[in-house]
Amino acid sequence: MKNFNIITIFPDLIEYFSKTGFIKRASLKKLITINNINLRNYSEDKNLKVDDKTYGGGPGMVLQYQPIQKAISSINNKGHIIYLSPQGKVLTQSKLHKLSNYNNLTLLCGRYEGIDERIFDDFIDEEISIGNYVVSGGEVSAMVLLEGIIRLLPGAIDDLESIKNDSFQNGLLDHPHYTRPDIINGKKIPEVLISGNHQEIEKWRRKNSLGVTWKKRPELLKNVKLSEEDDKLLKEYIAEHEANEN
Ligand code: SAH
Repeated sequence: MKNFNIITIFPDLIEYFSKTGFIKRASLKKLITINNINLRNYSEDKNLKVDDKTYGGGPGMVLQYQPIQKAISSINNKGHIIYLSPQGKVLTQSKLHKLSNYNNLTLLCGRYEGIDERIFDDFIDEEISIGNYVVSGGEVSAMVLLEGIIRLLPGAIDDLESIKNDSFQNGLLDHPHYTRPDIINGKKIPEVLISGNHQEIEKWRRKNSLGVTWKKRPELLKNVKLSEEDDKLLKEYIAEHEANEN
């Protein structure tokens, strides 16, 4: 069982998230536990304040050292301690795989200007960012991490097979998907998908996965080793694409 400790001033956000969809099912199946920790419970202030002004002046509040220190110390299985921060290394699919190997993870969610710098030296093993932009709190970032990790755990989602073709899983983007009905406003789904010929379907999917990557994120192709067959499929896709453009 994997255990996630989340330290936040908005435990309600995490609570709702952990009671929804496959995250809830993963808890019920005892694959995971989510230990939702309200930072305010560790406040040293009678009004439960956990932030104070930034030294040096200027606008913006900072989460204080003491409540965070106390919250972290209260956790039995801290494991690897992550601070969600725009200054961290940007999250990738392969990072999610690495993180899915920890039995215990502690995620610290910042707010305001962030946390007192001295927390880093004393407690943080790693800083992780969800992208080169700034949001207002670590909670959505922690949820990104949690969803990304938990869906990789065996048994967490019904069809583990479906993960294999997910975007980034093998360095490529996922192929297009269609569902019923087969015709919408005269637009028909690709015939091969209802042919029942699994080999041809696989070929179509590979070709379109390569093609979609070429079209949308061509830089990803540089890091993928393409087989001769892949090269052929991609050339076919590009030729068809260009024919359609003209
Ligand atoms: N002043 C900080 C940003 C604070 S934003 C700076 O410029 O570095 C408030 C909190 O939101 C942060 O403490 C962090 O926990 C969270 N956050 C904001 N952007 C994030 C991102 N890209 N990835 C992960 N967490 C982020």
